[in-house]
Amino acid sequence: MSKRDYYEVLGVSQSASQDEIKKAYRGLARKLHPDVNKDDPNAETKFKELSEAYEVLSDTTKRSQYDRFGHQDPTAGAGGFGGGFQGQDFGGFGDIFDMFFGGAGGRGRGPQRGADLEYTMAIEFKDAAFGLKKEIEIPRTETCDVCSGTGAKPGTKVETCPTCKGSGAQEFVTNTPLGRMVNRRTCPTCQGTGKRITTPCTACKGAGTVRKRRKIEVNIPAGVDTGTRMRISGGGEAGDHGAPPGDLYIVIRVNKHDFFEREGNDIWCEVPITFVQAALGDEVTVPTLYGRETLRVPEGTQTGTVFHLRAKGMPRLGNGVAKGDQHVRVIVQTPSRLTDRQKDLFRELSREFGEESHEQSRNIFERMKSAFLGE
Ligand SMILES: [Zn+2]
Ligand SMILES: [Zn+2]
Repeated sequence: MSKRDYYEVLGVSQSASQDEIKKAYRGLARKLHPDVNKDDPNAETKFKELSEAYEVLSDTTKRSQYDRFGHQDPTAGAGGFGGGFQGQDFGGFGDIFDMFFGGAGGRGRGPQRGADLEYTMAIEFKDAAFGLKKEIEIPRTETCDVCSGTGAKPGTKVETCPTCKGSGAQEFVTNTPLGRMVNRRTCPTCQGTGKRITTPCTACKGAGTVRKRRKIEVNIPAGVDTGTRMRISGGGEAGDHGAPPGDLYIVIRVNKHDFFEREGNDIWCEVPITFVQAALGDEVTVPTLYGRETLRVPEGTQTGTVFHLRAKGMPRLGNGVAKGDQHVRVIVQTPSRLTDRQKDLFRELSREFGEESHEQSRNIFERMKSAFLGE
């Protein structure tokens, strides 16, 4: 099934402000909340779609990532996670009161989803151009293997929670101007698990989670830049008692290069040429990310002239084929520490130029003079 555009779901324009997005969400959430649409079998799907659109567009980072990549997640295939943006799990949809009227005593969401983690990864300039696979180690909380997150010692008896009779939630029914509302809260006795543990698991002491240093292989796609954020869905901290884990965000920092300088997907560099090469023209060899390139410098080239090497820049992220350009600024080196013979040759050259050689300079001097007068 093709996913609807998030802006379309919220009925706002791409340039909508955060306030407009929030307003649109609030209006639609009141209309679409499953508690007020009990007769509509698609109510949950519609509301989930809305929540997901809001989760992404209300977060400026996620929104800009969505604007760039759409529903595509650049981390697809990374370390076996991948997947697109996943809507926030509303676990039973919470209740409309907590969302709009500031309900007291916690939201009825059952066990809490795990926290998100952020990992900053420094990579080399060339790795940003070609992408790389890298194994990282992150300390995080994971579901306990011994008890599979239940918190109970394997083989021991787990009783049904006496407070909620195993449902994990307590329900309150209220009549409101919007209709009959079911207000659902996490059971305070069992924290939403619906169970009572008689003998805690020894490995996790009943918590259901343990701290681990986990090695994860991350696929950095070609074209990333400093500040690129990649989401590894489910790579964050484990949730409480079997609730879904949070996400892991990899934030890229690209190290500076000695020769290349990046500007978007274009690359700039400076290449020195001799006085003679500039005057007579020559072919110079220029390093690019993809090997050596020959650049034809025509005769009479001025210092600072920029030449362009098409498609020798950075690959466009998520595209794989399109690349930026490389811009080569040539810098004419003025000869220094001349031998007596070289000096003589220059003097002879100067005499040879005679009047004509100064024609150009004179034009420049004239313009300079008028600049002073304009002060
Ligand atoms: Zn355990
Ligand atoms: Zn309970």
